[in-house]
This record gives sequence, C-alpha cells and structure tokens, in this order.
Amino acid sequence: MPRFQTARDAALKLRPDRPLYGFRPATLAEDARSFLSAFRGETAYAVKTNGEPFVLDALVKAGVRSFDVASPAEFAAARAADLNAQLHYMHPVKAQSDIRLALETYGVRSIALDHEDEVAKILRVVRALDIPPSDITLFVRLATKGHAAYELSKKFGAAPAHAVELVQRIDRIGFRVGLTFHVGSQVEDLESYERAIATAAWVKGRSGVEIAALDIGGGFPARYGRDPKKHVAPAPEIGDLVARIHREIDEWGLGDLPLIAEPGRVIVARCLSVVVRVLLKKGQRLYINDGIWSSLSDSWTGKLLLPARLIPDPAHRRAKEDGKLTPYRVCGATCDSVDILSRPFWLPDTVATGDWIEIGHIGAYSLALRTRFNGFYPDDFVEIATPFEEAEGPEGFATVESRGGMA
Ligand SMILES: *Cc1c(COP(=O)(O)O)cnc(C)c1O
Repeated sequence: MPRFQTARDAALKLRPDRPLYGFRPATLAEDARSFLSAFRGETAYAVKTNGEPFVLDALVKAGVRSFDVASPAEFAAARAADLNAQLHYMHPVKAQSDIRLALETYGVRSIALDHEDEVAKILRVVRALDIPPSDITLFVRLATKGHAAYELSKKFGAAPAHAVELVQRIDRIGFRVGLTFHVGSQVEDLESYERAIATAAWVKGRSGVEIAALDIGGGFPARYGRDPKKHVAPAPEIGDLVARIHREIDEWGLGDLPLIAEPGRVIVARCLSVVVRVLLKKGQRLYINDGIWSSLSDSWTGKLLLPARLIPDPAHRRAKEDGKLTPYRVCGATCDSVDILSRPFWLPDTVATGDWIEIGHIGAYSLALRTRFNGFYPDDFVEIATPFEEAEGPEGFATVESRGGMA
C-alpha cells in the first residue's frame, strides 16, 4: 500500500474519483492492545467484522491469538494470519460438512449451539472422527434481551430453562460445557451484559453441571461521531466497561471461570477511513461515490453518525474561506432510491462538487459488506500514518468524540 501522512495528502496527490480506503495500522494495534490489556480472559477477535488479510495480520502482530469464526472461509483466513491461531466456532447453526471441516482439518475444539438437533449434528461428526467428547467444549448460546444498536438476540439463543436442558444433555454425553451470549453490537449500556451474566449464573446454578468457560461474546461499543447540536453522552470507555463487566462476573459468582470475549467493532472501527468524492452538490444534498451498497451500510443499519472531514479541492475557487457548519443529506453512488445515509454529515457550507470527504471510523462491517451492485466496487487502499482524530489542515475538522468526552 502506498503510504501517506494524512488522508488529505493522499487525496490531493492522487485526486481519486473512486473511494479510497485509508488504513491506519498503528491505530489498529493500539485499539487491539487496549482490549487485550483491559480484558482478563482470552480475546477472540470476531473475524466477520473485518476479515481482510492485512487486518488479521496486523492483529496477530499486536498479540491477538484467538479468533471467533463462523465459516470455512473464516477458518482459512484466521489460519493464514497465524498458523497457531486458536479458533472458536461460535455460529450456533452450522452445516454438517462445515462442522466436520472445523474438527478434522482445523482442530477446532470449541463450538456454540442453541438447540438439541445441533448437538446431534456435532455428535455424529465427533463419533465419525473418533474424537473423545471430553476434548471438546460445547458452548450453549443463551438468549438475551438488550437494546444495542443491533439486536441480535432475536435470531439465536436458548431461553434459560431450555439452556439448562441443553447443558445437562451435553454434559451427559461427556462434552465439556461452556456458556455464551452475544448481546448485540454497539452496546453502550452495562445492563445488557449484566442481564446476560445473571442468566448465565442462573443456568449454571440450575443445571448443577460443572461449567468449563464463559464466553461473553462481542458488542463492545466503538467511538463514532456526534451531532454538534445534540448533547448525547459519549460511549463508555472500553476499559471502564470491561472493568464493570468483570465486577458483574465476580458478583454473580462466575469469577473463577476461564473467560473468552469476542470483540469485533471496538477493535477495528477506527483503523479505516474512506476518502469519497462529492460528485454533485444539490442544495442541502451531497451525492458521493460511495454509499450503503459499498462501504457505508453499517452506519445506515445502525444509524451511526460517522465522523467526517472536508478535504476541499484547491482547484475550486471559493467565495469565502471558512464555511458555516451545516448538515448535509448524503446520497450514495447507486441508482437505488434507498441509497441515502440515515444520518447527515456536518460539513462547512463551502463544500463543493469535486471536493473530497474523509469519512472516519468505518473499519467495522464495511469492506466485508461491499457489493457489486450497479457495478461499483471500491477496492483501492493507502496506508495513513496519522490517526484520524489528529489529522490537521485549515479546512479539516471532525465531529468525532475524543477520549473521555466530547471533542
Ligand atoms: C458479530 C459477532 C461478534 C462481534 O460483534 P461486535 O459487535 O462487532 O463486537 C462477536 N460474537 C458473535 C457471536 C457475533 O456474531
């Protein structure tokens, strides 16, 4: 990847007409290490969040050794990054052939499930391969309730009483038994974790079975932008949130269990930005060359406010130097009428057709969710040395939360 000090440098040098991704390996290493040092258990990065080889390689360099994987392609990606990677197969509903591949070829020994038919599927493979069940930890995925930006508990998870039955059934067969939950994504309240931990404690107590490990899933919040006109509390610091989760685990009597977490978003969100071009300014609307079918679907579904910074094209003459901060509706590149971002971008009103905008903190659920819809598929990368928050420039600004408060 060509290397630049800032995204502005890259934009002015390359004058890209296609979206240009800015990868910040130092930011990625910093955020990975922050989580690793905050969490006292095993950190298994959720590969689906961003499974690009350059991201996985950087995570391994930063000390990540375990991965939450859900498919054969993710097994292979994690192993390509680290031959000794520890793989946790935490998708509750799997193809039998994928279970076999995981156990036979990838040496996977921890698997999630939320139904007895899945136990039967796994058991068939385990018997066929002649693996002692006691070598394998089956994690019962618990249903949880919460209010994350994304609520994932509607799809997976066994209700507490059902979970007790599953735990007992798995234990009788001779597997090691784990408990797991995943409270959603971009979870900003401790209560969602608290309720899930309480449920895990209840299931453990009721089942009377020895529990081998507790996997608290992902969902930890990343930092995004803020609306300068609204006073919204910033997302909790990750260190604080994890410390409070530890305390809950201890208070519910689960403190002696080996712990696993599956962070995704909180580790990779800040490491990537995208420089997009304003194809047309039409009143309060900006038409850009990216959108919900390329890099920005996550902000659309999660109604996230992404930090953005204007990079004016010096070739364009402007009536005034400094613009007034104005909310613009942002329309995506495709001809699809739903391709309009759910949150405005606050930019100086000097923004003009041909300018660039650097959109920050898009490292999670962006590259993986790109489509070829309408023939657009951004795939150009540069490396950026300066963190998004620190980049300067007379026109540059970002509505981004700083650490421990508002910028
Ligand atoms: C998606 C997912 C994660 C990662 O979630 P983030 O919100 O990105 O931290 C972790 N565990 C499971 C089971 C998931 O499905």
